[in-house]
Amino acid sequence: MNVNLNIGRVLGAQLKVHWTFFLLIIWIVVHELQRGGYASSVLFNIALVLAIFIGVILHELGHAFMAKRFGVRTTKITLLPIGGIAHWNPREIPPKHEILIVLAGPFVNLVLALLLYFTIPIHSLYRQSFTDAYEVFASFSFQNFLFFIFLINAGLVLVNMLPAFPLDGGRLLRALLDLRLKPAKATQIATSLGQVIAIAFLLLGLLYHPVLIFIALFIFFSAYTENLNVQHTTLLKGHTVEEAMLLNITTFKPKDSIDLVVNTIISGTEINFIVVESGHIKGLLNHGKIIEHSAKNVLVEAVMDPEFKTVNALDDLSVVYPLIYAHKQTLFPVVHQGRLIGAIDTINLNEYIALQTKLTYKL
Ligand SMILES: [Zn+2]
Repeated sequence: MNVNLNIGRVLGAQLKVHWTFFLLIIWIVVHELQRGGYASSVLFNIALVLAIFIGVILHELGHAFMAKRFGVRTTKITLLPIGGIAHWNPREIPPKHEILIVLAGPFVNLVLALLLYFTIPIHSLYRQSFTDAYEVFASFSFQNFLFFIFLINAGLVLVNMLPAFPLDGGRLLRALLDLRLKPAKATQIATSLGQVIAIAFLLLGLLYHPVLIFIALFIFFSAYTENLNVQHTTLLKGHTVEEAMLLNITTFKPKDSIDLVVNTIISGTEINFIVVESGHIKGLLNHGKIIEHSAKNVLVEAVMDPEFKTVNALDDLSVVYPLIYAHKQTLFPVVHQGRLIGAIDTINLNEYIALQTKLTYKL
């Protein structure tokens, strides 16, 4: 289920708002009403959430602008209340460029915070907000609003510079380690530190605030996934699709009956198939769709999906790895000089990774 809201494209990148932003707005409205807030205080708080939102967008645009300067395309930006996650193409960026791309985001918030610091009386507002919190929160003036925008931007700089991968600080640490170490080692150190900080956040969250628990889980699992991705990519580099592909695959013709396919599923272990006619790949048969049409008297051509991606036998496995894992297609035909010679899916790629891990680390 895709619950992230797509809000358009900026600098070629798809902008998505993470569902937690909406959760934050609902939470703030409920919280405000519970403590006896008025319409004006609810609106003031919603305006603050929108200010966080804009702060995060500007932060991400800082990254995207710098990435563009180095010829790196930002494909997708997901906006979260604590920052954004940008996806870059290519995934591997020289460490010196990555350092500048990473710093460009917090730099935008730092500039905004400094501009506000010198234009509004931060000191007196700050003292006031602690000595007479009620007064400050009760008067929803423009100056108070600017004071909170200052706090938001300063907060975005501080939170994002924590060395907790995937936050910017963690990415910076990885890029710095990358200058001296191998990428896989650098990622391992940075993500491990990220997970340690995440556990600290989790404990603080249990003691003080549930929002910290959410941040902790986000950091922990992102660090885990990124580390796994980099370790796998490193392991697969230099190996071709041909080495890992399935050779014994059953293919069908467009005019075959779906009964024939169902019988093959029952009598064997294959569940997805390639449809071929006179040496050309015509489509893919997906397990779910086969089952859906199994009781009907139809031909393979009516059930197959004519839109599909293929991979080349000599492609590097580290390059096709993200495609095979992220794409909704489950089975990829492997071609060599235009001919079908095998297939690859996540199951046999996982098996290949497991075998390579054994061979490499002699576990
Ligand atoms: Zn950032």
